[in-house]
Amino acid sequence: MIRLDKYLTDCAIGTRSEVKKLIRAGKVEVNGSTDVRPEMKLDELKDQVVVNKMPVVYEKYGYYLFHKPAGCVTATKDSMHKTVMDYFDARTFAGYSPVGRLDIDTEGFLLVTNDGALAHHLISPAHHVPKTYYVETDGPVPASAVELFDKGIDIGDDTPTLPAELVIRQTMEPGDSSAAKYAAEVTIYEGRYHQVKRMFQAIGRKVVYLKRISMGGLALGQLPKGEYRKLTETEVELIS
Ligand code: URA
Repeated sequence: MIRLDKYLTDCAIGTRSEVKKLIRAGKVEVNGSTDVRPEMKLDELKDQVVVNKMPVVYEKYGYYLFHKPAGCVTATKDSMHKTVMDYFDARTFAGYSPVGRLDIDTEGFLLVTNDGALAHHLISPAHHVPKTYYVETDGPVPASAVELFDKGIDIGDDTPTLPAELVIRQTMEPGDSSAAKYAAEVTIYEGRYHQVKRMFQAIGRKVVYLKRISMGGLALGQLPKGEYRKLTETEVELIS
């Protein structure tokens, strides 16, 4: 059982005060009646809730795909820089945080959720969730790097990296390109500190642009930079 106002805020209908206003304005129906109060208790699975004539399906957790731009930090708070959570309405998305970390200058695929268990699953080293990055480098990546990445490479940690798939690209990603002329894609199955940059450094190349393009079978696609979208149920299942 859950309070009506909590039910509505969990479903990201609005903040506590916004949903209370909707309730007072008679915009919220429970089982066909608008005679409702914020504190009334509902059964999340059985009671039928309608807001502004639209049925609401109860969702305790929300899952959003965010296209992180460069210059923002993967944190909820920072005194110097804009954070990922600054792109989300603070009151509606209270309790949400980004899953894992991208460097300040890295762009691309970032999940934002209030589901701590899924976040833990996705970043846990035990689960080897694949993450694919589009990489631009300061010079050509030698073909021999494909095998080195596949074997696991020494990046100065206690153990070499897990096998990673490297594809040397012949074309640059339109619109995302730095001034560089060399591009590759790499899929890694762990998430060490500055891992991709350090892997390229280990083969003598500097990463000049980095963008995560997919994670756990979900792709960033054409989502514009700085924007987010809700994942579908099927997409959530794919990464769970
Ligand atoms: N590897 C890096 O070096 N940086 C990132 O932001 C992500 C992976």
